[in-house]
Amino acid sequence: MWVPVHLSDHYYDPSKEYCGLYLVSKIELPDFGPTSELIRIFNKRNISLITINSHRKGDLVYDFVTVDLTGKKKLKDEIRKEIIEKFGDRLQLFECVETGIPGFVYNKKGFPLVFNINDEYIQVAAIGIYGWKTLFQGLIERYGEGGVVILWFMGMDMGENSARRVMRLKGEFSCSERIKIALSRLQSLGWGKFEIAECDEDGKRIVIRVRDSFEELVSSEIEGYESNFLKGFLVGLISILFCKACRGTELKCVKKGDEFCEFLIR
Ligand SMILES: [Zn+2]
Repeated sequence: MWVPVHLSDHYYDPSKEYCGLYLVSKIELPDFGPTSELIRIFNKRNISLITINSHRKGDLVYDFVTVDLTGKKKLKDEIRKEIIEKFGDRLQLFECVETGIPGFVYNKKGFPLVFNINDEYIQVAAIGIYGWKTLFQGLIERYGEGGVVILWFMGMDMGENSARRVMRLKGEFSCSERIKIALSRLQSLGWGKFEIAECDEDGKRIVIRVRDSFEELVSSEIEGYESNFLKGFLVGLISILFCKACRGTELKCVKKGDEFCEFLIR
């Protein structure tokens, strides 16, 4: 079963009394877990959490919870009091997050957006699917085949760069393990669901399957377009990891009615 992962949810309903709470507190397991304590405090009052976002760093836990207090606003002071009482000295910061727009709430404290790989926090600037669509379509409409080439090179440069990052990871990895890590990173960034169908390290030949590729989604209205950005990316990535200037072919494609897109890089 696939589960969608939320970056930062924005909720807006002017008729609702949404409330966002941001807490930084010390964890003392097994006696005190800040997140479970928060859940208990809200459950007790029959208030369900809309979102809960919890991160731990060292002995501190950063919690952001969104609750719907519509018709229950009177409980706010009581909840605040109970949190302060239960958390005591462990509470380092406690804030009610206000956006200034009634009924609109999101994790305003949640910045920057980061992608954590091996304790290296990489800042992420996400672009929604509509944004990507506009970028792709604009490039192709303005530059035609030239736009396709630009996308291919952009992908290739990014793929090479990504491979270099994976090469810097500590630990003993085989080449195919490094490729797996790189593809996992792409998947967690939402680019698609990746699978290595075949990998011949000695012959320097690999077949990569992609389901639900974001590029297919954003280019669905561009006639005759092939996944050049992703193909370029995979060529760049594999070329560095195989130490060989590779070429790429898309063998199968959802545009042709196949179940997935499949790239041969060699
Ligand atoms: Zn395809």
